[in-house]
Amino acid sequence: MRLAVKRTSPLLHGLPKSYSQLGNREIIRELIERVMQVIQIPLLKDNYGYLIVCPATNEAAVVDPSEGDPVLRQVEAQNVKLTSILNTHHHRDHTGGNPFLLERFNLRVYGHRNDQERIPGLTDPLGEGNEVAVGNLRGRVFFIPGHTKGHIAYLFENKLFCGDTLFVGGCGRLFEGTAEQMLASLSKLAQLPADTLVYCGHEYTQKNLEFALTLEQHNPSLNKKIEQVRALRAQGLSTVPSTIAEEKETNPFLRWDSPEIHKTLQRDSLITGTDPLTVFSKVRELKDHY
Ligand code: ZN
Ligand code: FE
Repeated sequence: MRLAVKRTSPLLHGLPKSYSQLGNREIIRELIERVMQVIQIPLLKDNYGYLIVCPATNEAAVVDPSEGDPVLRQVEAQNVKLTSILNTHHHRDHTGGNPFLLERFNLRVYGHRNDQERIPGLTDPLGEGNEVAVGNLRGRVFFIPGHTKGHIAYLFENKLFCGDTLFVGGCGRLFEGTAEQMLASLSKLAQLPADTLVYCGHEYTQKNLEFALTLEQHNPSLNKKIEQVRALRAQGLSTVPSTIAEEKETNPFLRWDSPEIHKTLQRDSLITGTDPLTVFSKVRELKDHY
């Protein structure tokens, strides 16, 4: 099968012409891997920042620099040219490193337009459907309020940077938004292709999945995943990224249709209806007190 890859596709900038003759999905996926690099940077206690690198231009962006120094060290170690900060939302543990980096580099700072007053150094206010560039790479912006009123995610090919909205096994607290907004935001992310990689803002996975088990102890995917996660954490390793497919199978905040979750909540007389908003709101409330 011949896939139509436009010669003007940003994917192909800076690559030899013959690449634009590619014939199938696998080769294209391989190419994406080659042209885009993601480096996870552990920050503060349990935050993750990410360096997104375009190898063709050696330009890089940092997603959610909680603090500056570890990002600077990573930029130097990788020998890349840092050109922008991609903030998912205004919280200090996602923007705390902005001033430090702005003192050292000439950077564009991206974030949602609702956060113009709250993201240090914001230069490019964004909204749903906007595009950001890192060298030849292009990222699409999703507006996903709920945790805050200006929360966004960035999607570069199959890699989603979703801050504190969707976690591996969980979702962010409703600090500024409603359950309805968060449900809509999570539903939007759940519609991404199954193999989309989920790069979230925190290493909260183990606790999230322990909570998930209280609602769905007979979910085989969840039981399998929690074993893997316990093993990784016992070695101090990261459980991020996950995939949209895994999240749909194990994350209780995407499983408002699960009969077992309905049963658990009904058994304890916590819900009467089983519509998505009722189930989601109750699960969020239970997690707040877990
Ligand atoms: Zn946050
Ligand atoms: Fe956070």
